[in-house]
Amino acid sequence: MFIFEDIIDLKNHLKVEKQQYSIGFVPTMGALHQGHLSLIDRAKADNDVVVCSIFVNPTQFNNVEDLKNYPKTIKEDKKLLEAHHCDVLFLPDAHTMYPVPAKTSFSFGHLEQTMEGEHRAGHFNGVALVVSKLFHLIKPHRAYFGQKDLQQFIIIHQLVQDLLFDLEVVCCPIVREDDGLAMSSRNLRLTASQRPIASKLYEALMLARHSLLEGYGVSKTKQTIQNFFNDLSDLQLEYFEVVKSATLETVDSVSDTFQVSLCIAAFLGDVRLIDNVFLFDKKGIF
Ligand code: AMP
Repeated sequence: MFIFEDIIDLKNHLKVEKQQYSIGFVPTMGALHQGHLSLIDRAKADNDVVVCSIFVNPTQFNNVEDLKNYPKTIKEDKKLLEAHHCDVLFLPDAHTMYPVPAKTSFSFGHLEQTMEGEHRAGHFNGVALVVSKLFHLIKPHRAYFGQKDLQQFIIIHQLVQDLLFDLEVVCCPIVREDDGLAMSSRNLRLTASQRPIASKLYEALMLARHSLLEGYGVSKTKQTIQNFFNDLSDLQLEYFEVVKSATLETVDSVSDTFQVSLCIAAFLGDVRLIDNVFLFDKKGIF
């Protein structure tokens, strides 16, 4: 695996690769787990060359403590990427990605005003900024994102259309622990006693899915989820939304004419967890 910290070295290397090979790109913030690795495997299956980036992007954090506490496991990350046959790792520092303070800003309208955007001011602006920079540098044929961050995927899909990035964005399924907890780098921050409680988030999503599929309707289902969390003192529900997956618009009723996502965020101590599930099996987002 080639490892580049500088833009010039990365570009020189990829210039040669691009003449003959298709490039799949997986942007990450490191502390890699099986969720990230499933994206690497998918990129490897679809493309000749896989590029992964690890960069804890400061502009997407609205909470200094969260940025400071973000787990870093770079030695292990390199080993995992080697084992999964990643070809290139791009490992820039903050000055490389932001040689001058960024002044460009994005506005995604409703897509960034709901759910994560509503609770993390400026988050998607930072995401769009860094992903645009990475797309320009790497110029991949395909880029891979997890359904785990559904809203991020929808916003990047919009960004690619708006700015005519010449690439395909691919949404990959959520990889979960045995008890249903969605894998996340932030899970490393959970204590041994918090860890079993974290799976309640997925339990809530399953309860909501069952309720909607049984025909209980959106408002009754939301009440059921609120009651579920009222009985759990350790987990603080931040939001639970039922949205049309493609547009992230909240829906009052569900119909199998479009895919619906159930999205949730909650705090367990000071660790913020998010998760989502599709309502319908075998239905795409768009
Ligand atoms: P992050 O390092 O958290 O920025 O995540 C990098 C990419 O991995 C994003 O596209 C995430 O959606 C994706 N990802 C994170 N966790 C999972 C998971 N459990 N399953 C699938 N993809 C994931």
